[in-house]
Amino acid sequence: MSVDLRTRIKREADQCVKCGLCLPHCPTYAKTLDEGDSPRGRIALIQALVEERLPASDRLAYHLDRCLACRACERACPSGVHYGPLIDSARALLEQKRPSRRAGSWLHAGLLAWTTGGPGRLRAAIRLLRLYRASGLRRVIRGSGLFPRLARMETLFPDPPSAPAGRNEYHPPVGEARGQVALFTGCVTDLADPAVLDASIRLLRLAGYGVHLPPGQGCCGALHLHAGDLDRAQTLARRNLSAFNALTVDAVLYTASGCGATLREYAAGPGRDKSAPGPFSAPVMDVTQFLAAIEWPAHLAPAPLEQRAAIQDPCLQRNVLRDTTPPYRLLARIPALETVALPGNERCCGAAGAYMLEQPEMADALRADKLEALRECGAELLVTSNIGCAIHLAAGLRAAGSAVEVVHPVVLLERQIADRL
Ligand code: SF4
Ligand code: SF4
Repeated sequence: MSVDLRTRIKREADQCVKCGLCLPHCPTYAKTLDEGDSPRGRIALIQALVEERLPASDRLAYHLDRCLACRACERACPSGVHYGPLIDSARALLEQKRPSRRAGSWLHAGLLAWTTGGPGRLRAAIRLLRLYRASGLRRVIRGSGLFPRLARMETLFPDPPSAPAGRNEYHPPVGEARGQVALFTGCVTDLADPAVLDASIRLLRLAGYGVHLPPGQGCCGALHLHAGDLDRAQTLARRNLSAFNALTVDAVLYTASGCGATLREYAAGPGRDKSAPGPFSAPVMDVTQFLAAIEWPAHLAPAPLEQRAAIQDPCLQRNVLRDTTPPYRLLARIPALETVALPGNERCCGAAGAYMLEQPEMADALRADKLEALRECGAELLVTSNIGCAIHLAAGLRAAGSAVEVVHPVVLLERQIADRL
């Protein structure tokens, strides 16, 4: 067992004075009212684990696994406990103490391997998925009820995804050049919602920016980090840093806030390991933040849209990046569009990376609150800038037979501009 890991966990957990001010902010505690599902209770369990007063039991793992890593508690904590890094480290310790803990979870292992392997492994996984869907095996497995997580996966991805077409490594600016940026494409967006990358590239080019897509990039490592696989998360971070730092650009842009928080913490965010792989050589920012800040070319005036859009603030954008304003500022460019904050934005929607697959009951209970808030505010569009939230919320809306469209702010803006060009 790594002494460094234990020391880091103990040092961070001991900052907690057990005041309980974080409890009203915790979504899992709000649902169960069980202290073991609260930040304070989890920290007490982590302290008992690291001090070997409690074994790494199923019960202990159950409470730690039920944490969404949404970090609402971190934002609320007056003692400055860096809860996000703490829960990631505690899960790593749990993996060390019980290496067979997830041995039965083929889906978990598959997800981590798939996202680690880059585009080649991604294409192979998609071919397998298509074969499975076309075969009679799908009906047999569905009917058997033996693989509930596979059935769950199908509700999240109802249509067979296409293997992403290779994208050019460089997209030159249209018209007068104003600068160069690099785009982080991640591992899921190109598969689940390639329109987000298409729209980002198009808008940036039209605004005068050359867009680089460094070929060596891959998954940001968030899934691995939150699963306690710190070594693989570091390997992925180094791969991305070497791909992006080989370029000279004005900014590194991402389209999903979940990835963004991880990319920003490569440079050892508060509470992270000081041997973290290091910073990017250019500022890292959300594509909506970048597009909202630049001077907008007059010929890109968007067409009016007479609709009401509810904006969902993804947790890591709120609690780690601490700026939820860019989507609102960007969409203010669309005449006649009414934007409202989705009521209850301070609570996680239940997506939380692989959580929506692994903790379906809690994930669905949290999503139900969002869908109810959406219904009450009467919006026709649900805008989110995080791919995980989009997948989870869209699945809930489909199941409820709702006509509300889930859309990324950049896609919405590009659509209104495309109508004008
Ligand atoms: S608010 Fe901070 S110090 Fe207080 S119980 Fe929660 S984590 Fe501990
Ligand atoms: S990260 Fe979120 S779910 Fe986990 S303890 Fe903190 S508030 Fe609760």
